[in-house]
Amino acid sequence: MSEVVRTVVVKSTPLPRKLFRVFVELEGMYRNMVEQLVLYAARSGVTSFTKLKALKYGELRSLYPQLPSHYAYTACQDASTRVKGFLKRRKKGLAKKDYPVVNRVSIWLDDHLWRMRSLTSIEIATHRDWVAIELEPHKQYWRYVNSGWRLASEAKIKLDKRSRRLITYLVFKKSAETFESRGFISVDVNENHVAVLVDDKAFLFETGFKDIVLGYYYRRRRVQERYDKLYGVNCRVKRRIFRKLKERRKKSDLKWKLANIVVRVAREKQYAVVLEELGEEPAREMINHVKDDQLRHRVYQASFKGVQRAIEEKAREYSVPVVYVNPRNTSRMCPVHNAGIIYSNGCRIGRCSKGGELWHRDVVACYNLLFRARLGNGSTAPSLGGLNLDGSPIPLGSTATHDPTGISKSLWARWKSLEDTTKPLKTPTNTLQGQTGNLVRG
Ligand SMILES: [Zn+2]
Repeated sequence: MSEVVRTVVVKSTPLPRKLFRVFVELEGMYRNMVEQLVLYAARSGVTSFTKLKALKYGELRSLYPQLPSHYAYTACQDASTRVKGFLKRRKKGLAKKDYPVVNRVSIWLDDHLWRMRSLTSIEIATHRDWVAIELEPHKQYWRYVNSGWRLASEAKIKLDKRSRRLITYLVFKKSAETFESRGFISVDVNENHVAVLVDDKAFLFETGFKDIVLGYYYRRRRVQERYDKLYGVNCRVKRRIFRKLKERRKKSDLKWKLANIVVRVAREKQYAVVLEELGEEPAREMINHVKDDQLRHRVYQASFKGVQRAIEEKAREYSVPVVYVNPRNTSRMCPVHNAGIIYSNGCRIGRCSKGGELWHRDVVACYNLLFRARLGNGSTAPSLGGLNLDGSPIPLGSTATHDPTGISKSLWARWKSLEDTTKPLKTPTNTLQGQTGNLVRG
């Protein structure tokens, strides 16, 4: 049994000036509490919410006796989360200051500080009693309300000072029971492709994540260089351009699409998804050629962690089980002969050193993930399934091991599911076959 959590953002209607004022005051007090707590926690090393609350509750209450008491709780929770994140960043050398700076504040609410009044309005406890707020619900909100999700007791609000609205962050939860898997669908992620193996059919999705990240990074840096020289480091124009770049990047975020395709197939077939167990460190040889540390980290996040997280998240939503296996040498060992695969000069197709059959780098990785999952999960499939272990030169008979169905980004980005692959592909697998044609023939 696992739980899926989603945050839905709903704006309030514009508030009258006087009412909005109440929330500005509330935010000021709340911010002050969080700032003090954060300073204290960073200095003393007390980061747990319970300890922080035990130590500071009395002080916070006497500071703002007019505030409902639970704001002292939620401020402690907020501060604890901020400091923990900060210490983690500092450990990685990513924090510049000695303590976390409280820039943006959203006010954390618990079940004593807010409640639903109707489906389209909420009430919030403030230093001026309970205040009713009308929401402007949208399609997505109704979808959650109407499809078996339940509203959690925690929520957050943020002030939109320009339009005098509250932005509410409502949390919806749903528990999901995963099924007993009848098979596996293995997924291998690398910097520019995601390979998916379903029932001995391999698909190679072109993602270009590396190019997307690198492109974004260099564009950003160009803007930075130009505007820093013109207007100084902290100019508004630059920030606006950054925001636009970021939005555009979010829109082109294909990992969700991919996760959807994978998880839907798994759900339909009642398969578990097999993923590589990723370490903390981006110690993968494939991104070692990216010199800049921060950039390498980002490429890693975007291509490996990002896709994995998206798949995990979608899997949780659709109650699809996920299995993790050790990724060591998955693209270097032939799963049939347990012998090394030899790749000549950077080619993605290699030859098994024992059996002589051809393997595509990403496909063999998928097969290895699949077998590791099966071996680690004897109850589901005791044999290695479709594999013929008699030592015949081409174990799977077909060309599946070295000739996956390559799918260009422009094509799959419009799909809803993998079923679409049964239709003939309009674009031939250009990049892939161009690369491998000679080898396959030879
Ligand atoms: Zn072999």
